[in-house]
Amino acid sequence: MAKFDPLPGNYLFDCFIDDECIIMACNTRTTVGVAKGIFRAAKDLDAPMMMELAKSECDLNGGYTGFTPQKYSEAVRTIAKQVKYDVWALHADHITVKKGDNEEIEKIKKLIDAQIKAGYTSFAIDASFLFDDKVNSVAEQLKRNIEVTTELAKYIEENMKGKSFGLEVEVGEIGKKDEHGRVLTTPEEATYFIKKLNENGVYPQGLAIANGSAHGNTYDAEGNLVPQLSIDIPQTVRVGEAVRKVAKVGIVQHGITGTPLDLIATKFPKKYIVKGNVGTNWQNLFYDVVKVYQPDLYKEIKEWVHQNYDEEAKKKNIKSEEEFLGKYIKNAFKPFFEKVNSLEKDTVKAIEDICYANSLLFFKAFSAIGKASVVREKYKI
Ligand SMILES: [Zn+2]
Repeated sequence: MAKFDPLPGNYLFDCFIDDECIIMACNTRTTVGVAKGIFRAAKDLDAPMMMELAKSECDLNGGYTGFTPQKYSEAVRTIAKQVKYDVWALHADHITVKKGDNEEIEKIKKLIDAQIKAGYTSFAIDASFLFDDKVNSVAEQLKRNIEVTTELAKYIEENMKGKSFGLEVEVGEIGKKDEHGRVLTTPEEATYFIKKLNENGVYPQGLAIANGSAHGNTYDAEGNLVPQLSIDIPQTVRVGEAVRKVAKVGIVQHGITGTPLDLIATKFPKKYIVKGNVGTNWQNLFYDVVKVYQPDLYKEIKEWVHQNYDEEAKKKNIKSEEEFLGKYIKNAFKPFFEKVNSLEKDTVKAIEDICYANSLLFFKAFSAIGKASVVREKYKI
C-alpha cells in the first residue's frame, strides 16, 4: 500500500464499532474544491473518514455525476496525495439491487469488478429493496435480501483475493413510507439478518437501517427547506444494542443532510452508530458558492435543470423553486462535468474553504477529532 492510498474499510470500522466516533463518509458528487476541503479538515483534526459514491451516482456509464469508479478513485486519490492524508477509505456506497434477477446481478458484478480494479477498499451491498411485504415472517420477508447480499459479499471476497476490505449491508429501505409514515427497521429484523449472514460466512462491520431519515434535503408542505428531525433515536438505540449482542457490527446512519449538527453532537447514539453518510450537504455548499461566484454558469445550469425536469416536478407536485432545484440539480453534474472541472480559481478556493469549515463542524459533532491515530496505532500505519 503506497502512502496516502485508501486503507481497507474494515480498519476504520473495526476501530470505532465500540467507540463514540462516527466515521464521516462523504458522497462528493463533484470533487472540485469539495474533496480537498474535507481532506484538509480531516488532516488538521486527525479525523478518520471515507469518500464514497453510490451506484446511482457513479457506475460504468458515469451514473448521474459523470464519475466512473476509475475516474472517482483517481480524483480522490490525487487529492489525498496533495493533502498528504492517510486515514481514509474508498467506499462503494449503495450497490443497490432492485429486482435481484440474474441479469441485474451480473451487471452489478461488472460494477464490482470495476470498483475493485479502481482500488476501492470498502463496499455497501444494498439489497433492501428485495424485502417481501406479501409474506408475514421476518425469515420470509428477508429471504431474498439475505441470499443476494451473501452472493455479492462472496463475490467481493473472492475478487479482493485475500485483501482486507470493509463491508456494509442494508436491512430496511431508507426513507420508505407506508400509511403510518416512515417504515423503521426493527431489532428482530436486524438481528435475524446479521445472524443469517454470519451463518453464511458473511461478516459485515456496518449495518444500514431505516430509522427515520431520508436521502437529500427536507422540505415542508409549502416547499420550504426545513431541518430533518425525523431520525428515531430510541429505535436506533434498540436496534444498535440488539445487533451488537449477536455480532461486532455498528449502525450506519444514511441521509444525514439537514440534521442539525448540535443535535448530532449531543443526542446521537454515537456508541452504536459507526459511520455517517453525508452527501447532499456538499452539493448544497458547492452551489451556494457557484451561484455567487459564477452567476452566469449557475443560470445556465438552472435552465438546463428546468428544461429537463419541469415535467417530472409537476407530476410530483413540487411546490417551490427551492425544492425543485434541491431535488433535481444533482442531475446537472454529469452534463456540466467539464464546466465544473474548469471553474475559476477563486470559485474553487471558496468551495474548498466552505467545505473545510463545514467539515470542522461535522468531525466535531461526530466525535471524530484525534481518532485517526487510533487506526494508525492499531494497524501500524
Ligand atoms: Zn444512503
